[in-house]
Amino acid sequence: MHINDIKSFVPPVRTLMGPGPSDVHPRVSQAMARPTIGHLDPAFVDMMDELKVLLQYAFQTKNALTIPVSAPGSAGMECCFVNLVEPGDKVIICQNGVFGGRMKENVERCGGIPIMVVDEWGIAVDANKLEDALKANTDANIVAFVHAETSTGVQSDAKTLCEIARRHDCLTIVDTVTSLGGTPVKVDEWQIDAIYSGSQKCLSCTPGLSPVSFSERAIEKIKGRQSKVQSWFLDLNLVMGYWGSGTKRAYHHTAPINALYGLHEALVILKEEGLENAWARHETNHQGFRAGIEAIGLSFKVKESDRLPQLNAITVPEGVDEAEVRKRLLNEYHLEIGAGLGSLAGKIWRIGLMGYASRTKNVLYCLGAMTEILSDMA
Ligand SMILES: *Cc1c(COP(=O)(O)O)cnc(C)c1O
Repeated sequence: MHINDIKSFVPPVRTLMGPGPSDVHPRVSQAMARPTIGHLDPAFVDMMDELKVLLQYAFQTKNALTIPVSAPGSAGMECCFVNLVEPGDKVIICQNGVFGGRMKENVERCGGIPIMVVDEWGIAVDANKLEDALKANTDANIVAFVHAETSTGVQSDAKTLCEIARRHDCLTIVDTVTSLGGTPVKVDEWQIDAIYSGSQKCLSCTPGLSPVSFSERAIEKIKGRQSKVQSWFLDLNLVMGYWGSGTKRAYHHTAPINALYGLHEALVILKEEGLENAWARHETNHQGFRAGIEAIGLSFKVKESDRLPQLNAITVPEGVDEAEVRKRLLNEYHLEIGAGLGSLAGKIWRIGLMGYASRTKNVLYCLGAMTEILSDMA
């Protein structure tokens, strides 16, 4: 390739029904094209204040420390762990898919001691096992788990898991990257201490931002740390000076201005629709999709009570080349769906109905395309 041959990049228009990113709402794309202003411009600072209020609504919390981290969901995860976990802390991690494994990695890198409570991929976290682990490890002080496991399409009972953790005097770190905006997430009611999400799944925004929120209890632990947070960029003591309320806003890093316009717009759209209505829409479209999937003879990997409405794990039928199906969907229909990961690689398709992509039009389009391709390949 010669550099003179390179022109502007114009991506193909796709329908995104994988595990994320999902379709971006056109209003979000428009918002992001608005003029860039300075990150300390009073108009921008006002927008940041609104963004916090909108995020508090999305998370259902009054937590003052509710902000978007200027980086993707993985950085939101890291932000929670590096701030809360001190060397020597025992952290119980409930793992039932890919993302729980990353939590372990984070704890180890913080000098903490991970205690793994493992459930099979494709089922929800077992609350009894967590209770047993807490009884066996009375010195544990943090419990972490993934609410919506995108790798398997499973939803765990965050409310119950947090209740158990609280009873054993543990703080909680909860991954809601795929649940926020798609299924109920209630930070205050469930007494979650540290929570992170992502902009590109059920919030209909572009990738690259991670909403987080921290309770007073969590802030207390951070303020009482014996050692410095090992990440300068994610150290909340410093980030708070930038996102904190009041007039003196200290420079920390240059906020991704236009990306934040996008998140602001995405949250305004969510507010206009209403959280409950957004949850109901995800459920309705999931039910429509499920009816169609069963009608064409396919089945779900996950049992009904554990299913995530926004991420459908569909079992690949015997003898079908699952990669070929995905390739044809992309090439012939401009439709992206996801493959299985880890122990589920080759065994499932992961079909997202997240955010703006959770629409009747997409349900019908995907079902139609899959029907045609599967009957053609049979
Ligand atoms: C997508 C995802 C992440 C990571 O988010 P990125 O924006 O890709 O960094 C973390 N946890 C879960 C459950 C996810 O689905």
